[in-house]
Amino acid sequence: MQPQPGRRRGGTRASAVPHRRHIRPRRAAALASVTALTLAVSTSAGTGHLPPPATTAGAGPVPPARSTAHRPCLISGEPTVQMSEGVPTPGGYSRSTGTVHALTLMVDFSDAPGQGSALSRFREFFPQTQQWFRTSSYGRLDYRPETPIPDWLRLPKPFRSYGIERGAPFDPGYRQLIQDIVSAADPTVDFRSYDFLNVLMTPNVGPSALDTVLSVTFAGNTQAPIADGVPVANASFVYSRQDDGSGAYDLTGYRVLPHENGHVFGLPDLYTQEGGGAVGHWDIMSEDWGANNDLVGWHKWKLGWLDANQVACVAAPGTSEYTLTPLGRTGGLKLLVVPLGRNTGYAVELRTRAGNDEAVCRPGALIYKVDADVETGQGPIRVYDSHRDSGGCTRTPNVHAELSDAPFAPGEEFRDLRRGIRVSVVGVDPSGSGGYQVRVTRGRG
Ligand SMILES: [Zn+2]
Repeated sequence: MQPQPGRRRGGTRASAVPHRRHIRPRRAAALASVTALTLAVSTSAGTGHLPPPATTAGAGPVPPARSTAHRPCLISGEPTVQMSEGVPTPGGYSRSTGTVHALTLMVDFSDAPGQGSALSRFREFFPQTQQWFRTSSYGRLDYRPETPIPDWLRLPKPFRSYGIERGAPFDPGYRQLIQDIVSAADPTVDFRSYDFLNVLMTPNVGPSALDTVLSVTFAGNTQAPIADGVPVANASFVYSRQDDGSGAYDLTGYRVLPHENGHVFGLPDLYTQEGGGAVGHWDIMSEDWGANNDLVGWHKWKLGWLDANQVACVAAPGTSEYTLTPLGRTGGLKLLVVPLGRNTGYAVELRTRAGNDEAVCRPGALIYKVDADVETGQGPIRVYDSHRDSGGCTRTPNVHAELSDAPFAPGEEFRDLRRGIRVSVVGVDPSGSGGYQVRVTRGRG
């Protein structure tokens, strides 16, 4: 089914974006089928206006820090593009800076009773998810997972009655599921107190994640059921255990949740039907199995985690030189954006083994193209490989190998001859900062 962008009265976009995960662990890839992205949004006959949020819920994304010099770099897509990479992020998603409260419910069913304690399921994801966001955001996102119901929340119907399978649309299964969750939790929970919802399913419900990944996020979904007067618009569902068989589940299995929560903050999927070949392991929205990784700098700017002076917009013709500092460390210039038009641009950042980036085998300037008119899962970001068809430099499981040596090293240059754009990595910053000097040349026209 083709995506069908919904509209609310007044012409604003109803950004109900069910998210499908296509990612597979390497050993299951040959067997996995690909599910097309689908979207079904009913046309609302309602007022088209939500009541103003009384509390944190629905506070919405913050625009990225910027000055007038950044204006040419605020690329944006058509309003119908699902989960566009454009900045600023449209309303409806969760705020991604400051303190956010994640209502986290552990759910089980009569045909899949919770095994062990609900809080042990919670501890598969926390505190690592919190720490992951603290590190990636340089401390700007204070993620508070809250468990007002510390036990398994038993839903009234067996799991199989909801008809949840890979690629299941929001209606009717997830709508019923959310309504039942709301009914079961409502006596204890005031939904207005939270920015978004995490549903941690008992891991014995549904198939193994090695067979079929059911984990899914419905983000910016204004058509969602209402709880305590607010729509449950941003909800991540995590199933099964994302165990890649490497014995590292305790260290890496939580990473499905920061990926799913990336969607509640408005980030699209960067893997495509072909897998991780567009962005590799350079963003958790591309690969969330295996060794830890970070987000690309573009996403950090989009989420409000960079100051205006940490992003340089290279819009004018001529040659300019910059010292980029490692994306995984706090402070300094993090991102160069070379706009190519209203909806696309190149981005340049320095990736090293630091912070959440633990699998980097070849540090250097990562260069990628952002296209705000490309939908989630269709390749809105594409990384340029400085060493094409090399096979890469990593043997780490579940790290896309070919793009692992994509960054440009000192002495190497990226060229777009048609547009007269060159990005040269001049060398390592002689001051010993760990930064790299990068020269950007833009021709006229
Ligand atoms: Zn996803």
